Amino acid sequence: DGRWSLQGMTALVTGGTRGIGHAVVEELAGFGAAVHTCSRKQDELNACLRDWCSKGFRVTGSVCDLSSREGRQNLMDTVSSAFHGKLNILINNVGTNKRKPTTEFTTEEFSFIMTTNFESSYHLCQLAHPLLKSSGMGSIVFISSVAGVVALNSGTVYAASKGAMNQVTKNLACEWAKDNIRVNSVAPWYIRTSLVKEVLDDEVFERNVISRTPLKRVGEPKEVSSLVAFLCLPASSYITGQIISVDGGMTVNGFY
Ligand code: NDP
Repeated sequence: DGRWSLQGMTALVTGGTRGIGHAVVEELAGFGAAVHTCSRKQDELNACLRDWCSKGFRVTGSVCDLSSREGRQNLMDTVSSAFHGKLNILINNVGTNKRKPTTEFTTEEFSFIMTTNFESSYHLCQLAHPLLKSSGMGSIVFISSVAGVVALNSGTVYAASKGAMNQVTKNLACEWAKDNIRVNSVAPWYIRTSLVKEVLDDEVFERNVISRTPLKRVGEPKEVSSLVAFLCLPASSYITGQIISVDGGMTVNGFY
């Protein structure tokens, strides 16, 4: 039964060299998908590709900066020719943050975060649409954040970019259902990656994070990639338009 397999399927995972994206690449490849990924650093990407090859995973990669429109267009051209115009899975994972009070955000910081997190994933959906449709069975997963679900003090621009993703998830799920493309969003709370290393290295901060988390620890990238993979498997064929938190219970915690 093919419900628990991605054999014969193709996937694009943005930002696969570290953190959540890296775990997602391995998870999808482990289920049998052919995966393409990207990042801005050639050396780091090459090291990952060598490692994946030695593990027997089918992964290719290209360098690109997704904050640039041209970078996104080139990436989709590469993906289209590698996978013969057909793509089953798009994982919009690339994202960044800058933490500061709202009154201190500059125009440049606002547009950098909105472009990297929201505009790039929106544009990649547009570019990928014909490929997803041609595949006959498409799945898009946005890596959003609980910051787009509840109010956190991690920066309002980041929160807005993730809230926008969560709304677009619902719209595209309805708009593209006719093309057999499902669209879901995964919203993590603190996951141990390079993005949040600095804040979690502050012991007082980490203790505060853990105290608000019913499971009393931060998460690991694999605990996000498992849900992402499930949302791409035929096993989840009736799930679309959902925003699912991977948060150790944080968003349902009133006052425990
Ligand atoms: P990391 O910073 O650890 O990894 C990000 C990956 O994306 C790297 O491979 C990086 O490579 C790549 N990348 C970053 N910017 C670009 C760009 N402009 N173009 C191409 N590639 C890029 O992040 P995480 O794994 O922690 O985060 C992944 C996603 O998960 C983000 O959207 C984040 O908002 C979200 N998230 C993370 C949480 C956490 O606690 N870690 C919590 C909630 C959500 P390179 O720098 O070489 O380009």
